[in-house]
Amino acid sequence: MSLRSIFVAGVAVVAVFAFLPFACAAENQKGGWQPELRVGLFSGQKTVSFHVNKDCDLSLSSSKKSKVSVGKGETVTVNLSGKGFQVKGKNLSGELLELRTPDPRDLKDLVTTVNGKQYRGGLQLLQRGGGMTVINIVPSEQYLRGVLPEEMPPSWPKEAVKSQAVAARTFALKNRKRHESEGYDLCSTTHCQLYTGMAEEDPDADAAIKETYGEVLFSKSGGSLIDAPFHTDSGGMTENSEEVWGNPSPHLRAAKELQTGTQPWSKSVPLDVFQSKFDVGSIKKIELSPLEIGKKTKDRTTSGRVKTVCIVGSKGSKIVSGTDMRSLFGLKSTLFSMKLSGKQVTFSGFGWGHGIGMSQWGAKAFAERGDDYKKILAHYYQNIMIKKLY
Ligand SMILES: [Zn+2]
Repeated sequence: MSLRSIFVAGVAVVAVFAFLPFACAAENQKGGWQPELRVGLFSGQKTVSFHVNKDCDLSLSSSKKSKVSVGKGETVTVNLSGKGFQVKGKNLSGELLELRTPDPRDLKDLVTTVNGKQYRGGLQLLQRGGGMTVINIVPSEQYLRGVLPEEMPPSWPKEAVKSQAVAARTFALKNRKRHESEGYDLCSTTHCQLYTGMAEEDPDADAAIKETYGEVLFSKSGGSLIDAPFHTDSGGMTENSEEVWGNPSPHLRAAKELQTGTQPWSKSVPLDVFQSKFDVGSIKKIELSPLEIGKKTKDRTTSGRVKTVCIVGSKGSKIVSGTDMRSLFGLKSTLFSMKLSGKQVTFSGFGWGHGIGMSQWGAKAFAERGDDYKKILAHYYQNIMIKKLY
């Protein structure tokens, strides 16, 4: 549910600055240990070339003795070779090659440029399906610097951006090993969280990360990291998790927004296209309670989202869930009403996204009112505590 589309126009300008020397990067957080994340960047690569801003070692994860030194600024090319890799005229037999600083504490200051893009931290090259999967090994706070500006415009009120930083950090650490079968923790697309390395880093986002350093959302009772989903705009009220995803969570309960009826949208679908999706003949009637935000009915959820719709046709009727309707017609949300008129079906609704957890536009409204990030997070995630993990 990235807000990237809002400031796509700024990308070209940002990209120019991304290739300036590293001196303009924000000051690194001093301090100790932080978790490392393995983020999948590219797959199926036959050849990988990279360079680094510090002296590094390239070694087989199975044997640290089989290593090649990589000097600062030196461009190194790795090719696949039989059951291993060929690099600088040397053959290294193994499945996984790692690029790291000799002192692990320096990893957070390492910048690796691969395929023309800069990433903080080192690399893993994994033999997979006849090619190499390129994985970024990145300390969690440095990872967030490449995620946060993609998820929320850093120019938004600081307390909203800080809420997003804590939610994104919690999401990343809770979902470690989500891509374990592919050899890494998280992918770099919106499936996990959009991550673009250093290309979109921003001083305001960096400040929000620094001011919430290591802070994550924990369950008040169980003492473990919670799932911290978020979405663009709830339209007026967020939703109980079980009413969208089926699983109840004490942390993901319906919560009212300061404003209702936000982000209105509508979409018309030609009747023949609509009919072709349901095997009920010619559509006669669509049965759905009127939309009222925050009013639960037999076919609407606590927040008023569509639970089910009954489509009545000449050959029978069909019950369709709101989420199926949303994916069938690419609707922004399930908070909608429907109207059959003439040769078309019109959906009219509010909000954008699944409606579970934090609403980003809602967080902005709370921050503009003067709420701090702790208050905002406690509104959208219930029965939680904010814990400094490192
Ligand atoms: Zn993913």
